[in-house]
Amino acid sequence: MAGRLYVVGMGPGSYEQMTIQAARVLEQAQVLAGYTAYVERAARYFPGKEVLAAPMRQEVSRCRQAFARAAEGAVTALVCGGDAGIYGMAGLVLELAPEYPDVQVEIIPGVTAASAGGALLGAPIGHDFAVISLSDLLTPLEVIDRRLACAAAADLAICLYNPGSRHRKGYLKRACRIVGRWRSPDTVCGLVRQIGREGQQTRILTLARLAEEEPDMATTVFIGSSAARAVNGRMVLPRGYRLGEADAPERDVQEKDAPERETP
Ligand code: SAH
Repeated sequence: MAGRLYVVGMGPGSYEQMTIQAARVLEQAQVLAGYTAYVERAARYFPGKEVLAAPMRQEVSRCRQAFARAAEGAVTALVCGGDAGIYGMAGLVLELAPEYPDVQVEIIPGVTAASAGGALLGAPIGHDFAVISLSDLLTPLEVIDRRLACAAAADLAICLYNPGSRHRKGYLKRACRIVGRWRSPDTVCGLVRQIGREGQQTRILTLARLAEEEPDMATTVFIGSSAARAVNGRMVLPRGYRLGEADAPERDVQEKDAPERETP
């Protein structure tokens, strides 16, 4: 194998939200490639490297450039925000990989907006949830609508990525209207902006109020399931523990027909 290409999830924003593994890979990389804003962030933390920045919507050529440098022998890191495999570049890189048999690809995971944003709001995805992107750039709107309807009908908590932008207004309202067919207007919801970056903001609001919001690209939206609650200003999706009752007595773990217990 001549070259190495890492696809690195850098986490949502701050250096502290990057995994140690990601930081080590970026430290030893010779080339940083990716979308301009992410490459600039990586270069701030790991300066003095060759930089291959590409604007939005040039994902395929961005990946090919990274492969080309890796094939030449440069240890290359293609950087993504959050996790590399969650609406990131990992899949596209692996689809292109057969064209570059001399390059070994490794995917480095990162903290995704759902978990970092969830922690800021409280614990909004503590039970079953669905992640849905509202971007119809690569996915037809009918498909997005159907996924929203199915997740709502299944009473899943829903985490929305790409909830809107300057060019995509009204998408969140449309999503809230679909979810509202199964969920009360009082459903507890949350918004998180600029996670781990300057201007970080969180808000907890009802589904009815959420529908009036016009979020930007740097926002992640949480829609509670019917069990979601607001507790002391935090959004919580209970797992079902009964408060105020003694825990069930510990059982002998060898016991053959011991009921399965979920681990916290
Ligand atoms: N790979 C990324 C997601 C890329 S899709 C990840 O795993 O987090 C882009 C969407 O992710 C944004 O529109 C927003 O909904 C969400 N997102 C990513 N970073 C964010 C941040 N720092 N603050 C709030 N939302 C963010």
